[in-house]
Amino acid sequence: MNKTELVKIKQKALEEHIPIIMDDTLEVISKILKEKKPNRILEIGTAVGYSAICFSEFLAEGGSIDTIEREQDRVAEAMQNIKKAEVEEKIHIFEGDAVEILPTFTGSYDVVFIDASKGKYPFFLKEALRMLAPKGIIFADNVLYKGYVMSDYNKHKQRTAVRNLREFLAELQANETLETEILEVGDGLAIARKR
Ligand code: SAH
Ligand code: MG
Repeated sequence: MNKTELVKIKQKALEEHIPIIMDDTLEVISKILKEKKPNRILEIGTAVGYSAICFSEFLAEGGSIDTIEREQDRVAEAMQNIKKAEVEEKIHIFEGDAVEILPTFTGSYDVVFIDASKGKYPFFLKEALRMLAPKGIIFADNVLYKGYVMSDYNKHKQRTAVRNLREFLAELQANETLETEILEVGDGLAIARKR
């Protein structure tokens, strides 16, 4: 991977207020991926490709990432970025709403990274579980949503997102096939490992 390009991609995304993965969150995920060396990763929410490019470094030889993004101009920029970083062989972008695209996927994934619309996390979880390989890991970003999720304040205008994030976390924790931790890094990171 081309690290100089990666720094530029990150800088530009931050300047444009694109919500790319935060450094501390990336650090936690990277450590786990380095050990796991996944063959196939599924990402929900590509934005401009920053996290996918970062994760591609930890793929097993011949491994690949499928990533979904619904905004056309972000898909276009992600494609350019992936090229600049010289990882276009490893990353496949699917343009469209993940709610429609995920049910058409039939593969098995070693790692799923959920990082898109918070109101859809319970649905994304269902789809992730359907495709998660044995010993697979689900990472979900922004699960504490600026602290709203763990506070009892309910009159927030984002209350649908908050309600669905709470439902998502409750489902993770109730699921006996998973071992789940919720970390306060970044905007909140859930890590769920299939037993
Ligand atoms: N993973 C990226 C950041 C993703 S930001 C990184 O860390 O670099 C979240 C992205 O998800 C946004 O670009 C948004 O357009 C996209 N998104 C939100 N809901 C979606 C959906 N239902 N289907 C597809 N993309 C979605
Ligand atoms: Mg995020």
